[in-house]
Amino acid sequence: MVDLKGQYKQIKERVDTSIAEVMESTAFINGPEVHTFQKELEEYLGVKHVIPCANGTDALQIAMMGLGLKPGDEVITADFTFAATVEVIALLGLTPVLVDVNPHSFNIDLEAVKKAITPKTKAIVPVHLFGQVAEMQELMRIAKENKLYVIEDNAQAIGADYTQQDGSKIKAGTIGHVGSTSFFPSKNLGCYGDGGAIFTNDDELAHTLRGIVNHGMYERYHHDVVGVNSRLDSIQAAVLRAKLPHLDTYNSERREAARKYTKALAGNEKIITPLICDICDCHVFHQYTLRLKDIDRDALVKYLNSKDIPCGVYYPIPLHKQKAYADERYNERDFTVTNQLVQEVISLPMHTELDDEQIDFITKTVLEFLDGI
Ligand SMILES: *Cc1c(COP(=O)(O)O)cnc(C)c1O
Repeated sequence: MVDLKGQYKQIKERVDTSIAEVMESTAFINGPEVHTFQKELEEYLGVKHVIPCANGTDALQIAMMGLGLKPGDEVITADFTFAATVEVIALLGLTPVLVDVNPHSFNIDLEAVKKAITPKTKAIVPVHLFGQVAEMQELMRIAKENKLYVIEDNAQAIGADYTQQDGSKIKAGTIGHVGSTSFFPSKNLGCYGDGGAIFTNDDELAHTLRGIVNHGMYERYHHDVVGVNSRLDSIQAAVLRAKLPHLDTYNSERREAARKYTKALAGNEKIITPLICDICDCHVFHQYTLRLKDIDRDALVKYLNSKDIPCGVYYPIPLHKQKAYADERYNERDFTVTNQLVQEVISLPMHTELDDEQIDFITKTVLEFLDGI
């Protein structure tokens, strides 16, 4: 699904040198590489504060801790996402409220959000799924009207540009009160281990978050709040510093591959290709995900695998049906889209090293299967 080796080869010299420098310096934790990466990412995103941490799941959890959410508070999020999003809500004793998504963008459905708001609701967590930015402007309006926090789970859309109604652009993850991301190796900006970060323009919140990631310490050995231990290590920061200058290129390579997939597959009535916005860069294609109409998806998965083509099913089970998150408050009628998507979706290989020959082979094999049934 990804070609991390091919990408590494292109930046090997810089990465190897930077890692060797960290080894020489022995500043493995909180070394200068981490601080410099933080500054460089702040600059790239146009956000006042980046708080590096250990992974994207921690980033979400720490963001929620920093906002002071309390047990019993309801947090609305999408039913169709990776479990980390709902996991941290539950872990903090908050009440997850899962809602349906939009069938075209795969992102949280705004009408469903409005319907789910109660006096206990404190926050909304949109997930920019597969690299496509959610409808943030309208979501922020709903949040403001109801005095809710917005925490963007930007693990899949780092570098995406959201175009606002006035035409101005803003980076995904910096639109809500706080945003989080993951540097897991296969993410659009991935390190060579685990890593994550939190973003905010709020000085006070940034200060709180910096303490939480470091055992609740604002002054050495003074623990003002309950914190966690969540750090980005210097070796990962060195890798990320080598890759950050290429992020825009990486994302345009993904977009280019997506356009080629769509060009080859569009027009076949058995598949729905993903939304591609022609006028903006609000999709960075963490995944290229098709919807199959009345096709046995699992048979296609088998067929592609038999031709040595990897593919993925993100996600096969809606969160409201997972044992850990099922709740009798949920009504199946409120999840018609996710219940359908989990049966229809299939993601094709997507990375920065896809060449025309590979895309041609993959799309021909998909069409061959569809023609054969
Ligand atoms: C990857 C991912 C996370 C978690 O990131 P980790 O670094 O693996 O903890 C959270 N949310 C979404 C949507 C993700 O894709």
